[in-house]
Amino acid sequence: MEEKQLARDLIDFIDKSPCSYYSVKNTVDLLEDKGFKEYKLKDSLSLKEGDKGYFVVNGSGILAFNIGSKAIEDHGFSIVGSHTDSPGFRIKANPIMKKAGLIKLNTEVYGGPIFSTWLDRVLSLAGRVSIKSSKSLEPETKLINIDKDLLIIPNLAIHMNREVNKDFSYNPQNHLLPIMALASNEKVDENYLIKLLASELAINEDQILDYDLYLYDRQKGSLLGANEEFISVGRQDNLSMLYSSLRAFVEGNPKGVNILLATDNEEVGSRSIQGADSPMLGDLLERISLGLGKTREEYLRALAQSFLISSDMAHALHPNFEEVADPTNRPILGAGPVIKYAANKSYTSDAFSAAVFKNLCDLANVKCQDFHNRSDKAGGSTIGPISETHLSIKAVDIGGPMFAMHSIRELGAVSDLLDFYKVVKVFYSL
Ligand code: ZN
Repeated sequence: MEEKQLARDLIDFIDKSPCSYYSVKNTVDLLEDKGFKEYKLKDSLSLKEGDKGYFVVNGSGILAFNIGSKAIEDHGFSIVGSHTDSPGFRIKANPIMKKAGLIKLNTEVYGGPIFSTWLDRVLSLAGRVSIKSSKSLEPETKLINIDKDLLIIPNLAIHMNREVNKDFSYNPQNHLLPIMALASNEKVDENYLIKLLASELAINEDQILDYDLYLYDRQKGSLLGANEEFISVGRQDNLSMLYSSLRAFVEGNPKGVNILLATDNEEVGSRSIQGADSPMLGDLLERISLGLGKTREEYLRALAQSFLISSDMAHALHPNFEEVADPTNRPILGAGPVIKYAANKSYTSDAFSAAVFKNLCDLANVKCQDFHNRSDKAGGSTIGPISETHLSIKAVDIGGPMFAMHSIRELGAVSDLLDFYKVVKVFYSL
C-alpha cells in the first residue's frame, strides 16, 4: 500500500462518520463490500468455517467475525477492540431557545471535549431519528446528517472577556449553545428542528418520535506538514484505531476466529447496551461458539486461548508541554504504536500481554513505544479493563500517539496509522 493512502482513506472515513451511528454504518458498508453478511441478534445462528459476518447492536456498536479452519477451543478468538464515539455535544429534547433576537439550541456535553476548540467553528447536526412504524416496540430508525453549514458557537469578544486567554472557564449551559437563526425569521418556531429533520427525511413531522443528535465540525480533514506527514482531523480518537483495524480485518486470512469489536459510549464510561461495560462481547462470542456447535466448556476453553488488543489513542510527547509527560516514558509522534501501562489497572497491559504485543510488532517489523502517566497525574482509561472484567480474556491496551486528544481537530501521524495496521494484520493472520 502506498504510504499515505491509508491516511487519506481514514480521513474520508472520518469525514463521513460525524457520530457513532455513521462510524458503524461506514464500517458495515466496508464489511458488506468485502463479502461479510449481517446476522440479526434475534435470529438463530448456524456457522461454519469460512463464514464472515457481523452483528450491529443498537445502531452504534458492532462485532464482526471471520471464521478460520482451526477449532476455537484450540485456537481461541483474535480480537481487536476500539470505540465508535467521540466527545462533543448532544442536542437535548425541546432544544429551541429564543435569546437576544436569535434562535439557539440547547445541548449537553457528551464526554470530555476541549471546549475552546468548539467555538467559532462551522457546525452541523448528525445522528438518528426514530420514526413511527406498524410495531410499537420496533420504531424504525433512520440516520440523518444535515449536510449544510447550520450552526456556530460564537466566542465573546476579547474586549468583553479580558480573561479569555488567562483563567476563563466556559460554562456549558451558558456559554456553549450554538446559534441557528435570527428570531425574526417566522419560519423558525419551537418546532423548527423537527420540521428540519422531517424535510431532510421526506416524511411528515408527526411521524418523528425521537432523535439522538450530535453537533459535528463541518471542516474536512487533511494531511499537513512539510511532507504531509501529519493527519489533521477530529475523531481520530478513536476512528483511527477502528478504521486501521477494520482494514486489516477485512484483508485478514484467519486460522482461528478473527473478531473486530467496536463499542459505543466509551467517552462516557461505556455503560450502555452497545458499550464495553455490557454483556455485548461475551454474549456475541458465546453465540458464535454455539453457532459453531461448541459446548459451554469448549467456549470457555476458547476464551482461555483468546487475546484482545484494546486499541485507543495515546498521548505523544508535546513539544510545547514537555513537563506534563512521564520522565522516562515519552512516546513521540511517528515512532509507532504505544503500549499503555497503569499500576491502578486503568490500562490492562502487563508483562504477559505487552510481551505478546511486542512479539506482534517484531513480526510486523514495526517499532513500539511505552506510555505511563506521570505519578502525580490521573490519566484516562479505555475499553480494555472494562472488557477484562466481563470476560476471562487476556488483553493489552495500546494506542496511536497523537496530540490534542478530544479537540475538535486532533493531530496524528501518517506512519503511526500504517504501523498499527501492519501489526493488526499480523495478529489477524496467526
Ligand atoms: Zn478514545
